[in-house]
Amino acid sequence: MTPYEIIAHKRDGKALSKTEIGFIIQGYQKGQIPDYQMAAFLMAVYFQGMNDKETNLLTDAFIHSGSVIDLSDIPGMKVDKHSTGGVGDKISIILAPMVAAAGVYVPMISGRGLGHTGGTLDKLESIPGFKTDYPTSGFKKILRRTGACLIGQTTDLAPVDKKVYALRDVTATVPSIPLIAASIMSKKIAGGTDALVLDIKVGRGAFMTDRSSAQKLARILIRIGKNYGKSTSALLTDMNQPLGYAVGNWLEILECIDCLQDRWPDDLKQLTCRLASLMLQHAGKVETIREGEKLAAHLVTSGKAWKKFISIVRAQKGDTSVIQEPGKYHRAKIEQEIIARRSGWIQNIDALEIGLCAVSLGAGRIRMTDQIDPAAGIRLKVKQGQFVEAKQQLATLFTGRKKELPAVAERVIKAFRITDKKPATSSLILELLSDRDI
Ligand code: URA
Repeated sequence: MTPYEIIAHKRDGKALSKTEIGFIIQGYQKGQIPDYQMAAFLMAVYFQGMNDKETNLLTDAFIHSGSVIDLSDIPGMKVDKHSTGGVGDKISIILAPMVAAAGVYVPMISGRGLGHTGGTLDKLESIPGFKTDYPTSGFKKILRRTGACLIGQTTDLAPVDKKVYALRDVTATVPSIPLIAASIMSKKIAGGTDALVLDIKVGRGAFMTDRSSAQKLARILIRIGKNYGKSTSALLTDMNQPLGYAVGNWLEILECIDCLQDRWPDDLKQLTCRLASLMLQHAGKVETIREGEKLAAHLVTSGKAWKKFISIVRAQKGDTSVIQEPGKYHRAKIEQEIIARRSGWIQNIDALEIGLCAVSLGAGRIRMTDQIDPAAGIRLKVKQGQFVEAKQQLATLFTGRKKELPAVAERVIKAFRITDKKPATSSLILELLSDRDI
């Protein structure tokens, strides 16, 4: 067997065997298969797809490239959440302390920004000192003591996914259902969770731009979860406009602080409480969605979620004084207002363009080695469906990059589609799929 033969099989649309998938994944992990052959293999998968059996085998090969964390000595259900990636999606940072405040353990394995989408780890690391790389023993210690721990992939947790993920990012092979499924589920299963709630983003700012692909991805993710005995549910949610108002690492932490102190944008409150409710249902804390949402909202209004957030930041070595007095930190060198050129209704705010513009301002990476500017990003002043007057402020840009600013400002203005017609209201939460639907 050679890598060439396996690439050719996939290129020609053949289903791969366990031996072939194991050969290519293990060979790549060991450095015996070079990046150029792996890139060709990934592109073949991108075009030809994989059937369910192959996707399971790929997930299994990713999982067994490292070890699986055993959390069985921590009592009760452990529940994690994962988003497939969006713009302004800071929900994990609000959700983990909320759910932990209800007495449910949240072992959260998070990711970095990918393409135009932000990453939970980059956001958390904008809190000075906050550590996201722990060995398994440290991760378990914090989880047991604090109720939640948010970390990145350790060197031992689905390590081949980390290598493949970096290659996909630069070879335009990210939006592939089997590749996304194996990547997400291998990390989550290796992380030792008992149950998983997935937020599958759909729309301009998501990797799945249409609903039927998102449903397909949701079904595969749930099926893989089921195979490993993890109860899994998936919420399909709209990602045509950014979530909340803040896009950019520290700006999003500021918005999380507001939400945890019960000053929420409507969309963030609706989606965070729904996801929290699903996690609480998986953990057996509530029976209905409504009951879970009520409890989730109460965890914030009572101050319990905020207290839990402080204890997570402290446990992960973040500077809690920064969280308590956030106004003093990370001021961007340049702030520029974006003004409406005409009056009218905001039909849409293009999430993809806003995400790409935030990256250009310094909030994300173009290459994996790029440094992120924690203060960079965009704060929206308006949302879809609102009426604006000419010259009204639409957003503020934050950056240290003077040269890029005029071009980015022009793109951001164009990302706001303003028309004379009042837009129809669109739903944020589209549908829920669970083990029962598969
Ligand atoms: N998140 C992941 O962990 N992997 C992907 O491929 C896409 C989103």
